[in-house]
Amino acid sequence: MRKILSIIASVLLLCGCQNTQTQTKNDYKFLDAKEKSFENFTVYWLKDNAGDHKFPFELFGNVSDEVKKAVNMPEGMPSSISAYLIKTNNKYLLFDSGLGQKAGGQLLTQLQNIGVTPENIDYVYITHFHGDHIGGMLTPEGEKVFTNADVYVGRLEKESDLGKTESAVKMLEKYGDKIHTFEFGDVLPEDVLALDAVGHTPGHTVFRKGDLLITGDLMHALDLQLKYPEYCANFDGDKEKAVKSRKKILEYAKDNKLTICGMHLPY
Ligand SMILES: [Zn+2]
Repeated sequence: MRKILSIIASVLLLCGCQNTQTQTKNDYKFLDAKEKSFENFTVYWLKDNAGDHKFPFELFGNVSDEVKKAVNMPEGMPSSISAYLIKTNNKYLLFDSGLGQKAGGQLLTQLQNIGVTPENIDYVYITHFHGDHIGGMLTPEGEKVFTNADVYVGRLEKESDLGKTESAVKMLEKYGDKIHTFEFGDVLPEDVLALDAVGHTPGHTVFRKGDLLITGDLMHALDLQLKYPEYCANFDGDKEKAVKSRKKILEYAKDNKLTICGMHLPY
């Protein structure tokens, strides 16, 4: 039954994606609190970067003066480096792990602030293998941080070049048989649905849990890319696919009235 539901969800997702009209923030719901309760769970926004974080327009290629004016953020676009925690059925679900302590990541402090230890984490779901998402999986000494967690990674991501980088190989090695590989459309533990959002990376994944949509690196500058989804950050590996995914997932979120939270949305 789960399999069938997940297949239906994927097919629906693939269809409803042709709308390209300009969107405004009011068309969508965004997570707007550090902690928010949904039907069967609570989500916590864990800001991993210390201080403020802004992305400059230059990151998005040739942004026209007209667009810059329309976005009206001359100092750069507010963003963050974030991870998310869900508490449900006495389980802790972590989505991405931030930069890691070595690079100044604040994730563990943020967890501590809400009374959660790394050992408490039951599941980790990884959107993709960039350093600001998997950096927190290992300690500065290269040991497992989430010693009791089962870790879910996309097969496409794992089999891509990103799965062969030093940091990814170390993580996969250290977590060993606690690593589980998923396909798009799979329903993972605690009813977390893995959705195809490739483009940013070869296996870039968006996760849905109930009415919450955790969008990974679908957007790096909310104010620019919501209105102009055709603009890609330099980090987007396959820009054509990234634009397609951005439009498709935004449409999916709007149609299903989902609350969006992303790893680089302004905190
Ligand atoms: Zn990122």
